Amino acid sequence: MPELPEVEIARRSLERWLVGRPIARASATPGKPLRGLTPAEVSRALSGRTVRRVERRGKHLLWDLGAGQGAHLHLGMTGKLVRREGKEPAPPYARVSLDLSDGSRVHLVDPRRFGRFELGPLDALRASPTLRELGPDAWDEAPTAELLRERLAGSRREIKVSLLDQRRIAGLGNIQASESLFRARLSPFARADELSPADWRRLAKGIHDALSYALGAEGKGARDRDIRYVEEPGAPNPFLVYGRAGEPCPRCGGPIRQEVQRQRSTYLCPVCQPGPAPGKR
Ligand SMILES: [Zn+2]
Repeated sequence: MPELPEVEIARRSLERWLVGRPIARASATPGKPLRGLTPAEVSRALSGRTVRRVERRGKHLLWDLGAGQGAHLHLGMTGKLVRREGKEPAPPYARVSLDLSDGSRVHLVDPRRFGRFELGPLDALRASPTLRELGPDAWDEAPTAELLRERLAGSRREIKVSLLDQRRIAGLGNIQASESLFRARLSPFARADELSPADWRRLAKGIHDALSYALGAEGKGARDRDIRYVEEPGAPNPFLVYGRAGEPCPRCGGPIRQEVQRQRSTYLCPVCQPGPAPGKR
């Protein structure tokens, strides 16, 4: 599932693929990702426009289409963007396809259709509740220990649950929250209101290091046509603890444990990340 690093790589790729290349024609297949827009409306809104820039807020992308118009893209669970030459067939599950003036085509592919592609005035899209309620960006706003404490310490929730709340801090998902907490040597089950100043400092560094590492790893995978997520089946696992149940901890050598937290898997080293046992609160 795309998290901040994947969405940031998608943003950079979209800018490379779309900016300065007018959209000659756009097409779409009707369905949930379009949130009520018809394919004809998508085509009308995009044909003849040129993307000026692509902004990222947390896991959301905003396209500036000029003349005050824009698009909001959220990749959902399985969304991704691919670029093809004009004569190549559209990939399976293409939901929106853009034919660019240089003959290339960019497709939004979304097998499970949990993504979202909306069009409208850019200001209105920016002001929509989903985007307006996002907390500070976990990468662009380089959250400090102080900012994290301010955003997260007011809650008795477990720290990993708070890190996943996009209204408190935007961009982290299950993988990056697990990786950040391992780097910070904090248990995912530690209570947010019980962390010390030193804990917040290690968490700020942990988030920065986890995202910086993932952006590097994702960047290497991004060839100029497909954005390949590092967590795809068959790809080597680049993470320190995520998806590594039973494997040795890279710090102490003890076994990594997989636990369930709010119906999702979380991975930790119980020696390096000591804290309350799951479910004991
Ligand atoms: Zn360990």
